[in-house]
Amino acid sequence: MSTHASPTPLGTVAGAVQGQSGLSALSVRAPELAAWLDSHAETLDTDATLSAEVVPQLAQAGLLRVGVPTALGGAGGTITDAIDSVADVAAHSFAAAFVLWGQRTFIEYLLQSPNRGLRERLLPALLTGELAGATGLSNAMKYLSAIEPLQIRATDRADADASPAWHVSGGLPWITNLRKQGFVAAAAADHEAGGPPSIFAIAHDAPGVTRSDDLDLIGLRGTNTAALQMTDTPLDDNDRITDDAPVWLVRVRPAFLGLQCGMSLGLARRSLAGTHEGGPGARAAVADEVGALAEQLDALATRLKAGVAQGEFVTAPAKLFELRIALAGVVHDAATLEVQTGGGRGYLRGLSGVARRQREAAFVPIVTPSLVQLKNQLAAQRGASQPSATAAPTRTGTAS
Ligand SMILES: Cc1cc2nc3c(=O)[nH]c(=O)nc-3n(C[C@H](O)[C@H](O)[C@H](O)COP(=O)(O)OP(=O)(O)OC[C@H]3O[C@@H](n4cnc5c(N)ncnc54)[C@H](O)[C@@H]3O)c2cc1C
Repeated sequence: MSTHASPTPLGTVAGAVQGQSGLSALSVRAPELAAWLDSHAETLDTDATLSAEVVPQLAQAGLLRVGVPTALGGAGGTITDAIDSVADVAAHSFAAAFVLWGQRTFIEYLLQSPNRGLRERLLPALLTGELAGATGLSNAMKYLSAIEPLQIRATDRADADASPAWHVSGGLPWITNLRKQGFVAAAAADHEAGGPPSIFAIAHDAPGVTRSDDLDLIGLRGTNTAALQMTDTPLDDNDRITDDAPVWLVRVRPAFLGLQCGMSLGLARRSLAGTHEGGPGARAAVADEVGALAEQLDALATRLKAGVAQGEFVTAPAKLFELRIALAGVVHDAATLEVQTGGGRGYLRGLSGVARRQREAAFVPIVTPSLVQLKNQLAAQRGASQPSATAAPTRTGTAS
């Protein structure tokens, strides 16, 4: 244990979150958004009064265009810049970062979709924040891991002309960013006629689409999280993101998961920076642990972004799963250290973000792909490489 309080172990964390000037990366890049998030982080977590404002705030700061080609109306850059954006926002408000994740991930689906017409139709309104993008693909991800069947079914439409068209029915119990002012949600559907499942973009105002009231969550309440039901919703090829969900998901998963890991990066950085707000004795007590976690976090961030940028995780998803598990561990440990250094102040309402970050950290292991899901998947892979083992099978070639 260190015997003196030193800012050195936090150097890398402070560099990422609070900077040499004491400003966070977001405060430098988008000061108005950073200030808005700091003022409202508690509200965004505990109630829905500001839920309509999050996407427009993110759009106004230019974050929805990050990593989107300029030719398509974006700001240029790469997906790793978008991961950084999610991390920067998560350091201020995890709820807002989750909304950004949903919106930016949906945008990524369009960028990687072969359906050019759909992209041209939806992208402009998604980039301005006029339309919210939601990703309801937990079900599809769990399907790939052989955990549950697809919950939406597409039946060929008898009234269709020569081009493919369907009636789609089913429901998804959890989707974030179902903004009441207008959304489009990505969902995977099994075809009654057989063949690979498709992924559709389902508009909020399509016939037969019903959004539930917001779910009664313990946190993240400003995220427009609700259930979505489709009853005989008519869709056609213009609404289809891909006609081969398993193959396409494997290609898109590194961006999906990379952006999601951005939430962990930002939250862990903020918690580690929070340990620095404790008194000198408390800081000294945890300085070594904080330093080690900061180093681990930097290394994980570097590996994550390099792997996503180089396409490594398309063929080696296990490495990405391991990174996600390791990051969740750092989030947990960092949040715990922040509780320790915050003392009683952290237990009083309105004095710090310590309690909120505890709730935020509790979400990290359960968002799909959940930690238990990934642990089983990694065990199954290890089992597959050892012929005598009997691990649960996954839909191989897709999930593994
Ligand atoms: C606030 C909030 C927002 C959300 N937003 C979205 C969203 O925008 N889009 C979306 O698609 N989903 C969303 N989800 C869903 C989320 O990503 C998880 O899918 C969901 O919480 C887990 O589903 P469940 O609780 O029904 O898991 P259950 O099916 O009840 O399973 C419990 C846990 O065990 C795991 N599990 C189950 N079977 C197995 C098995 N055979 N092997 C290993 N692990 C297994 C599951 O992954 C899960 O972690 C959200 C959830 C919450 C709480």
